[in-house]
Amino acid sequence: MYYIHEFDPWKNRFCTCPKKYSLNPYTGCDHRCIYCYSTYIPDFYNCRRKKDLLKKIEKDLQKIPENSIISMSNSSDPYPTMERVYGDTRRVLKILKEYEMRVLIVTKGDTVKRDADILSEMRSVVTVTITTFRSEKLEPNAPSPEERINAIRILSDYGIPVGLRLDPVFLYLSDDYEKVIDESVKAGIKHVTSSTYKVKKDNWERFSRVYPEIARKTWDLYFKKGMKVGRSYYLPEDIRRDMMEKVKRICDNYGISFSTCRENLNMNSKSCDGSHLF
Ligand code: SF4
Repeated sequence: MYYIHEFDPWKNRFCTCPKKYSLNPYTGCDHRCIYCYSTYIPDFYNCRRKKDLLKKIEKDLQKIPENSIISMSNSSDPYPTMERVYGDTRRVLKILKEYEMRVLIVTKGDTVKRDADILSEMRSVVTVTITTFRSEKLEPNAPSPEERINAIRILSDYGIPVGLRLDPVFLYLSDDYEKVIDESVKAGIKHVTSSTYKVKKDNWERFSRVYPEIARKTWDLYFKKGMKVGRSYYLPEDIRRDMMEKVKRICDNYGISFSTCRENLNMNSKSCDGSHLF
């Protein structure tokens, strides 16, 4: 296989995703989120196009069953800035439609709204990530949360099932997620997936530079009292449970489904990734 691979989130033992495939139309991502989990890939913030993308994807698709779930994207974003110019993701969607695949989009790129026409004609679910409305320091080059809310509204108006990824949530920093969920529900989301910030060596360096005070307050919790899963440092379970329960309560009040991602807290009401919305 060239560009489509079985989804395997760094062999994380807490992953509860259904069987699906992963496809990243671009290498790297220029949204430059400081907490990004994918920056182990060299020169990651320098987004680049893939060689022979469409030809190789067609070859890969011949090897996987029809109606498989193709998740775009798990270690990049299918709508980086250059997608507005090159349209590679749009072309990929057209091929996936031809091969009758189900597509699960995960994005912060509001350009996804441009593709509402294709997405509404195939089996698709879109999950839009919004962590906070004050995202300038966390996601310095991503479209604004307001633009993402607008994309949710447009996709929902087309009848496409849309979920929110409130992901990650930060201890001592995330304080407006009630508003994020509220605005997203008004725009049309049907589901929320959430998770707490997991520290990796490189994202911690960036996070500590931008939020030194919060890093100082949470260092002990991550590196002494929390636990290590693979290469990620987790907050202690009682703290993570408390954070996720607060988010769940808000979702319950709105009557929408809620799940966590790689938390091992047994709180998921439906699929962890929004795939129950297909
Ligand atoms: S949008 Fe996703 S892949 Fe891109 S920098 Fe942010 S976290 Fe990383």
